[in-house]
Amino acid sequence: MSENPIRSLSGTEDRLPWQWEFWRRLHAAARRQFALHGYGELATPVLEDARLFIKGTGEDTEIVEKQMYTLNSSADGEDGNGGNEAITLRPEGTPPAIRAYLEANMHKRGKFRKLWYAGPMFRRERPQKGRLRQFHQIGVEAIGGESPLLDAETILLAAAIYRDAGLTQCQTHINSIGCPRCRPSYRHALKESLENRVRELCHDCHRRLDRNVLRVLDCKNPGCRQVAGDAPVIKDMLCGECDRHYALVKAAIDGGGVSYREEPHLVRGLDYYTRTVYEIKHSALGARDTICGGGRYDGLVTQLGGPHTPCVGFAMGVEATLIAMEEESCADEAEGGDGIDVYVVCFDDSARPRCFEQVTSLRKAGLSADMDYEGRSSSKQLKMANKSGAAFSLLVGGSELQRNAAALKDMHSGKQQEVPLEKAAGEIRKRKSASGNT
Ligand code: ATP
Ligand code: MG
Repeated sequence: MSENPIRSLSGTEDRLPWQWEFWRRLHAAARRQFALHGYGELATPVLEDARLFIKGTGEDTEIVEKQMYTLNSSADGEDGNGGNEAITLRPEGTPPAIRAYLEANMHKRGKFRKLWYAGPMFRRERPQKGRLRQFHQIGVEAIGGESPLLDAETILLAAAIYRDAGLTQCQTHINSIGCPRCRPSYRHALKESLENRVRELCHDCHRRLDRNVLRVLDCKNPGCRQVAGDAPVIKDMLCGECDRHYALVKAAIDGGGVSYREEPHLVRGLDYYTRTVYEIKHSALGARDTICGGGRYDGLVTQLGGPHTPCVGFAMGVEATLIAMEEESCADEAEGGDGIDVYVVCFDDSARPRCFEQVTSLRKAGLSADMDYEGRSSSKQLKMANKSGAAFSLLVGGSELQRNAAALKDMHSGKQQEVPLEKAAGEIRKRKSASGNT
């Protein structure tokens, strides 16, 4: 290695072949639950017009203020975007989902849609446990529904995914942050109370006092958290409709059998939330312990130029969730080992092309198969077969090969039996299904 080797960037991670188990289990659980709950898959580009987040996520948010990776697209217009536009590596999935919803005219075709997505997000944050600059989220957006049952559905869905992934120690926190009708008076009361302790607030919060006072409640600075803890709560100031909505959300979550805690100071870091907000936390994470955040956002679609369309959704932090799964040892017992079906051992170098043909035809038959590509001796290949965790090995060479046959060895019992090469795949499949290992 040179003195100054090229390394991965701070806040980015490789995921190596042996590091996928929890990842796969979480994504499989999510897919299963999305199908059960009727959500359709959406994929959007990683690159978006920067204005989408400035308008959608909100100018006063930490994401837009400090965390976006924005670059200028070429000024000559050759990229077909008219040139001179700022493009951003998406920091979150909700504004892109709404952009796609509007761009595909989904609002003109029945309006109501339940969508899910999964993919990488980018934020220039200080890297720490579970916090990266390139990270991943799995999220849902239920678009076009005002019912409190839908708020509850997304909370129950997130809980179902975590349960399905094997997590048992999650805590759900919920609150209502009201609507544009009742929030102004709360904002006023909050501001008044915070102004009395302005000297205890951080520099950023001084600015938030004037621009977006609710964000003070979301500040991660310990001094500000202390002040926020003593601040008035919105619960007592909700309008009748928000109050009813909140009560119905809670009743529906109760009905779904998920326990939760009301957290009267909970707000979310993004500007578009209205009424219900929630976070799912896990103690494995330390100070930044939220593994999923969500809520209702009835104003975002109009903010992005669409018709009035109430929505609710959540985003799960994948890396944060994986830390929780590791701590709870949520290994997938059903998945078994990583072993392949069959390892083809070549006893005669000149037969390697035949072995390769055999490996190819086993794969075509839907079996995972492998062989040696490094010119190992047959005894070393046998060791590799063992190491690979293969259920079977196919020993190719000698007189059997003259008869277009090979010895099929059950790696568990050690028993061997001659099989014609063209029947090897069928025989292995038969034995696999007989052992229930399909
Ligand atoms: P938080 O207040 O937890 O930072 P947020 O309001 O900034 O969240 P959301 O998009 O709502 O942003 O985040 C949902 C979840 O995604 C977070 O709770 C967290 O688990 C995960 N997440 C957010 N930012 C990062 C990051 N930089 N690295 C890893 N995971 C992240
Ligand atoms: Mg954040």
